[in-house]
Amino acid sequence: MPVSIALFTQDLRLHDNPVLRAALRDGEEVVPLFVLDERLAATGFAVPNRAAFLADSLADLDTALRRLGGRLVLRRGETVAQSARLAELTGAVSVHVAAGVSAFAQRREAALREALGGRLRVHDAVLTALAPGAVTPAGKDHYAVFTPYLRAWQRAQRREPVAAPRAVRVPGSVRSEALPAGRPDSPGLPPGGESAGRRLWSSWRPERYEDDHDDLAGDATSRLSPYLHFGCLSATELTTPTRRRGGAGAQAFVRQLVWRDFHHQVLAARPRCAWADYRPRGDRWHRDTAEIEAWRAGRTGYPIVDAGMRQLAHEGWMHNRARLLTASFLTKTLYQDWRIGAEHFLALLVDGDVANNQLNWQWVAGTGTDTRPNRVLNPLAQARRFDPDGAYVRRWVPELAHIPGPAVHRPWQLRQRPDYPAPIVDLAVGRFQHARSIGPTGRVG
Ligand code: FAD
Repeated sequence: MPVSIALFTQDLRLHDNPVLRAALRDGEEVVPLFVLDERLAATGFAVPNRAAFLADSLADLDTALRRLGGRLVLRRGETVAQSARLAELTGAVSVHVAAGVSAFAQRREAALREALGGRLRVHDAVLTALAPGAVTPAGKDHYAVFTPYLRAWQRAQRREPVAAPRAVRVPGSVRSEALPAGRPDSPGLPPGGESAGRRLWSSWRPERYEDDHDDLAGDATSRLSPYLHFGCLSATELTTPTRRRGGAGAQAFVRQLVWRDFHHQVLAARPRCAWADYRPRGDRWHRDTAEIEAWRAGRTGYPIVDAGMRQLAHEGWMHNRARLLTASFLTKTLYQDWRIGAEHFLALLVDGDVANNQLNWQWVAGTGTDTRPNRVLNPLAQARRFDPDGAYVRRWVPELAHIPGPAVHRPWQLRQRPDYPAPIVDLAVGRFQHARSIGPTGRVG
């Protein structure tokens, strides 16, 4: 009886999973395999918040497979060795896996190919709606600017979602190790798994997204990012019906998912930009440990910045507008190296993703794909615009919860507070440092 292996990575779902579908086509029996890779743990990427979300997602996948007559096979060790061993043990005719974009995923794929030869089948457009490299500007291997990419993405032929399987038969001789358990750092972490993701997705309405997505207190974005990161939901499934439903809100939502594809195609082509500047600009970053520590702890004295940083600590997630302004505060106002901020976000974000995190950080820092690299987000102006009544700050900075209205954004103007720090930097000085560091041609907005 032919056996094939579906090697799950960041595609922890039954719906619209081309990897699993293809494995089921090849084999009467299938090994749905997930390897808890020790090498990934050694990179520091498997932090408690994501490990806990992953544990939920694997348990949910196992339950869903059991409903179809199968089960998840979990192995600990190194992905290539474990996959090759199982392929040997079962005489698998094929091993299916999703194409990844990071340097780690690209190395893993090369090693799998070496170990398995022609039995390895790599599937595109599983982690993203459009595969990296599916559209490119003439003579280049990726798009460096978002708007032309968006236009090409909209014109491109994309695959249709594939149906979830009805039955899965797993060879009885293949044992699984115990599924992992996780303890998150953040008490407000969302539950992981395809079931939770699909519940959230089915209740999500994009109609007001265009108007409300920047409203910090309104919290009106989808919060689907962790489910997309682990592949509990498919970007193809999310973009296809949403686009057909039309409307300005749905279009604005799909545009954000195209940003996700955009960053993935940049990273796939330039994997070293996970930590190296995409466009080096000769920055001479400051290094002030006390300032960095205040930023991490949400004690900068700028309530809107501190609210964002505390939401991150509590939920393992932060509103996009807060990510933008906290990142701008670190890199432009304090003029600290974006890698310090990216590392802190990766230590906590449940959706922490090499493509989206590192390239968004570079976008804000001005070393990435932003066509206006000198833009600086003034935290007070951001607070006035995106938290006009101060409700977001009162939610996340309890020391200031009793201050009504927008006055909460300038607590130092009310009186010296013993429990809340004075601003750690004068905004005018911060901007000056940035302008000076990038030379006389630098324009600071
Ligand atoms: P929605 O507004 O509902 O958007 C829908 C989906 O579109 C998101 O789930 C996400 O998959 C995608 N998306 C939205 N905005 C972006 C964007 N700017 N870039 C890429 N994809 C986007 N997103 C991550 O998924 N992982 C990260 O590690 C990450 N780090 C970031 C770091 C910084 C400094 C900044 C400025 C942004 C970062 N983002 C990251 C992008 C964005 O902030 C989150 O995707 C978004 O806040 C997730 O919330 P949501 O699901 O409610 O988004």
